[in-house]
Amino acid sequence: AHLPEHIRAKVHNHPCFSEDAHHHYARMHVAVAPACNIQCHYCNRKYDCSNESRPGVVSELLTPEQAMAKTLAVAAEIPQMTVLGIAGPGDPLANPERTLATFRELSAKAPDIKLCVSTNGLALPELVDEICQHNIDHVTITINCVDPEIGAKIYPWIFWNNRRVRGVKAARILIEQQQKGLEMLTERGVLVKVNSVLIPGVNDEHLKEVSRVVKAKGAFLHNVMPLIAEPEHGTFYGLMGQRGPSNDELQALQDECAGDMAMMRHCRQCRADAVGMLGEDRGAEFTNEKVAAMD
Ligand code: SF4
Ligand code: SF4
Repeated sequence: AHLPEHIRAKVHNHPCFSEDAHHHYARMHVAVAPACNIQCHYCNRKYDCSNESRPGVVSELLTPEQAMAKTLAVAAEIPQMTVLGIAGPGDPLANPERTLATFRELSAKAPDIKLCVSTNGLALPELVDEICQHNIDHVTITINCVDPEIGAKIYPWIFWNNRRVRGVKAARILIEQQQKGLEMLTERGVLVKVNSVLIPGVNDEHLKEVSRVVKAKGAFLHNVMPLIAEPEHGTFYGLMGQRGPSNDELQALQDECAGDMAMMRHCRQCRADAVGMLGEDRGAEFTNEKVAAMD
């Protein structure tokens, strides 16, 4: 990714954003957030959220206390661990108590670890100020569209003000919240990465427009991820028969968007409980049971 100098300085020890750093620094995710406030057609609720993670894997759910214990255990074992993210297994901001409690604890007890969070954006504007009180390095928003007509094909409903809202109306609210959250974060100087799930025939043509819009609003990195439609992971909510993109299609789109902004090409869609260097997952060494036994 060709990042501007001032951003490069901020992310030099972040394994996800610096090609260099990903050989030297490690990251971990803690899965503290089970609930979600929207429905994506491509989501299978049994598995991790695709805001950030590879869908089709199940992460062990942690309480904020367990997340804290796990983080300290990992930090003792893997000193290169610089970044901790909350990426699911649902939407972290649809579980504000659990996510914020985890951030509070970590900023107090492990102030050197940078924090990040990924979200679909629906609850972002109301939580921006609180998130920014912690040691937040960056926020990832999954933005699959900026057009509600396309959004209605991706999101059957959202849960908004205690009611289920459907169709174009729902997509319009979600898009407005995402864009507002993005603007609020960049105004406050927080780095924002945008993830988009490439869904052939649904938003493939449209993602260039998404890239243009989010760049104009200050997002520093766009990460186009392939829809992973693997039948062995169960029936997707509403995308029966929907295929994922080929490698060529993914790369072609990344190239087209690259004219507009820095593209991320080495995201591994790590599990919501991944631990270690990118491309490696030592999560199995730090299960609740094992961490409890370490005390
Ligand atoms: Fe599933 Fe979408 Fe919610 Fe993530 S944001 S848990 S993919 S419905
Ligand atoms: Fe980094 Fe992508 Fe893995 Fe998140 S999912 S930790 S951005 S490589």
